Amino acid sequence: MAKEYDLVIIGGGTGGYVAAIRASQLGLKTAIVEKNKLGGTCLHQGCIPTKTLLKSAEVYRTMKESSDYGVLTKVEKLDFAKVQKRKSEITEQLYQGVQMLIKKNKIDVYNGIGRIMGPSIFSPLPGTVSVESDTNQENEMLIPKFVLLATGSKPRELPSLPFNKNNILSSDDMLQLDHLPESIIIVGGGVIGLEWASMLADFDVQVTIVEASNRLAPHEDEEISKEITQVFRKKGIQILTKAMITDSLEKDNQITVTVEQNGKKTEFTAKKMLVSVGRAANTEGIGLENTDIDINNGFIQVNEFYQTKESHIYAIGDCIGGMQLAHVAAREGTIAVEHMANQDPEPLNYHHVPKCTYSFPEIASIGMTEKEAKNKNFELKIGRFPFKAIGKALITGHPSGFVKLIADAKTNDLLGIHMIGPHVTDLISEASLAFVLDATPDEMAYTIHPHPTLSEIFSEASLMAEGRPIHL
Ligand code: FAD
Repeated sequence: MAKEYDLVIIGGGTGGYVAAIRASQLGLKTAIVEKNKLGGTCLHQGCIPTKTLLKSAEVYRTMKESSDYGVLTKVEKLDFAKVQKRKSEITEQLYQGVQMLIKKNKIDVYNGIGRIMGPSIFSPLPGTVSVESDTNQENEMLIPKFVLLATGSKPRELPSLPFNKNNILSSDDMLQLDHLPESIIIVGGGVIGLEWASMLADFDVQVTIVEASNRLAPHEDEEISKEITQVFRKKGIQILTKAMITDSLEKDNQITVTVEQNGKKTEFTAKKMLVSVGRAANTEGIGLENTDIDINNGFIQVNEFYQTKESHIYAIGDCIGGMQLAHVAAREGTIAVEHMANQDPEPLNYHHVPKCTYSFPEIASIGMTEKEAKNKNFELKIGRFPFKAIGKALITGHPSGFVKLIADAKTNDLLGIHMIGPHVTDLISEASLAFVLDATPDEMAYTIHPHPTLSEIFSEASLMAEGRPIHL
């Protein structure tokens, strides 16, 4: 039997379920088709499970360092099964919450694979959604006015190192480990690679990162890359940049790879390998061939309101590429449904989106890097301030890192803020607000920051940019 909706969303991840709630608030009769679990990658394979594991790694590290704080204790051992159990419990608790919200907002959920049909007896336009599930013999048909594609992404595979759930693992497989490997080679020094490297090193796993570009965190400001490299090396992580794996051999429950670096080949062996080289959009099997929708480099092409070439079919989140982040997917979903409901939403300014890496030390940034700003011919005014001159950072016990604030010397507009150090993934929200409110460095300096807090670093970096620092 066919059912009619205002909106059918394919994919109930962060982008899809947030869009569904907003659509329901706007009075749209909405359904989500989800083939796995509501909450998607962020809740089940991404943000939440990895940050829960990172918290356990932090506790373990802090316990080992406890004598530095005058607390004499001994770490008996790490119970990794319990670490994993805690991760699953927190994920489950949040999953229950998402299900409750969907129910509260009267959104219908279809468990199955959603696929866009071409013009049919139900509609002259492509956009009828068929739902294929294990429980129904015949596909259900949903006839919407609008479709939102929010199908997300999956770990990108390297043809020479295909995932095999044995030694060559994806970030999804890593979450299923029942014990920690003694050693690991991590291919890719981007966000996911850095978070796993940091966590595993804190859990005493021997970590080697192989990164093809000339620095870790290639998406961040160069000074951030330099700092994270230094701290990671101090943590005992082996870092190979401008390095390519040219050969691999799996034998005796371990993997040996040949790494080429500066024309020289060296062999490295580890118990496991994590390949984290980006994410590919989930666009196969969703019926795009029945539409005129454009794809570029695997990603669905949209305008600033997330309409595809079929203007009643929208797409948001990881499947359109760009900044593949949960908070981006959620905002894109909100803008898309507000546009469907004629609410005249503001397009998202991607320069105002903060991005975070939850390694130890943490990294957070917003806006342009120094190089990007220079390439755009801005005359720069830069305020750098180290955490070691901030009282609260010394109190945390880990005062390494800094804030780098970049402003336009002519207009005093903020161009970028780059941070590495304690709790910067929480601190960056102040920078986001400063960007949204179009604040200047002197307005950030004028804002009173309580003492002693890590947030004082914003006043100090702003004063530094103005050439009148107090504590340095
Ligand atoms: P997804 O969350 O991937 O959801 C897509 C959903 O669509 C899935 O549930 C899938 O089952 C479903 N689906 C796909 N095809 C179909 C179909 N044909 N029919 C029905 N259902 C379908 N982002 C952050 O902001 N902060 C972080 O700390 C962070 N950490 C991360 C850590 C890791 C290890 C990873 C992998 C990602 C992390 N991310 C993080 C990224 C974040 O998870 C994604 O950006 C976010 O989940 C994207 O949301 P989405 O709704 O576009 O897609």
